[in-house]
Amino acid sequence: MAHPKRKTSKTRRDKRRTHYKAVMPALGVCSNCGSSVKLHTVCGECGYYRGKLAVEKEVTA
Ligand SMILES: [Zn+2]
Repeated sequence: MAHPKRKTSKTRRDKRRTHYKAVMPALGVCSNCGSSVKLHTVCGECGYYRGKLAVEKEVTA
């Protein structure tokens, strides 16, 4: 099996990892309740997706 000839140095490994960054998820606003929602995701507050009720929210207390 193909095998690296030399061990990657700590410097080289760490330099490669400088490109690994945390990304902010794309956020939109719920058209039903106005709270911020991750795009392409059912609203966690009211359960609506693209203007229609997708998930019934359980009523507690
Ligand atoms: Zn909502």
